[in-house]
Amino acid sequence: MRALRILGVILIVVMLAACLILFGLRYLYTSTSDQKAIAAAMATPAPSPTPDTTPAPTAAPTPEVTAEPTATPEPSPTPEPTPDPDSPEGRALALGLPKPPEIDIDSWEFTLVNGDNSIGTYVPEQLAYLDQTAAQTDIQYNNNGYRCPVDARIAQALLDFALGCKEAGLPVFLSSGYRSYNEQAQNFIRVCQNNGVSDGKDANGHYITMPAGNSEHQLALCCDITDIYRPVKNKEIENTATYQWLREHCAEYGFIHRFPEGKEDITGVMYEPFHFRYVGVEAAAYMEENDLCLEEFLALYRDVEGYTPQTPAV
Ligand SMILES: [Zn+2]
Repeated sequence: MRALRILGVILIVVMLAACLILFGLRYLYTSTSDQKAIAAAMATPAPSPTPDTTPAPTAAPTPEVTAEPTATPEPSPTPEPTPDPDSPEGRALALGLPKPPEIDIDSWEFTLVNGDNSIGTYVPEQLAYLDQTAAQTDIQYNNNGYRCPVDARIAQALLDFALGCKEAGLPVFLSSGYRSYNEQAQNFIRVCQNNGVSDGKDANGHYITMPAGNSEHQLALCCDITDIYRPVKNKEIENTATYQWLREHCAEYGFIHRFPEGKEDITGVMYEPFHFRYVGVEAAAYMEENDLCLEEFLALYRDVEGYTPQTPAV
């Protein structure tokens, strides 16, 4: 019995020891696993924050390659059609002049009056009156004192011309504009007497004064312009600063120097540095550029009584 008891104790002890060993082993295993798990966890890199996705810069649009302008091939020069020899262009060409402006030659600005072309007892439709010294800048339509009358259609251009001269610091005097048929008749007699002639012409056959009906003053599209009032108007006026200015700028205002030196045989009138005639800016510019007097200019457009253009010798 005693042996059995001892055996039982030994068994219990052995069982207890076995239990202890098993427990210990289990503890050891668990602990190692945890450590491994922790180590594994530590080793996993923390997920880095997702970077903001910056949109990839859009490539700047490449400018469309503009094709180099292809040089327009020079059109092969088409031979200029020869203008009708009786057209203004054809007449100008025959005289070695550039193409004249396209104007209505029958318009009032181009009315011709000279020794060969009378306007009879013509009276302008409406007159306008300008202060003779251009001190007043208004245009009146009724005669009021000593004012210069001209055709109303040129009044503004004449006033601008006179004021341009004044603004240049020069004195200006509108000496004579419109003269009626009767006034011109009296004027003719007086000037003839003063010069000891009866036909109004000087020794060279050029008019000093025009008979009534043949004066541009009766047409009222002109004005004798000087620096100051002068009882006698002559060639000396060309020495004044006022004349120099007027001569240089007249075309800008549509006026021409009507009776230039060297053209007396064409105009039929002696050189008058003071007499300016309105023809409009376009015609005045062409005449100025090509050194033409009114008769020469009109002859490009139509036949002119008393004047035959001289074709230059080839
Ligand atoms: Zn005059």
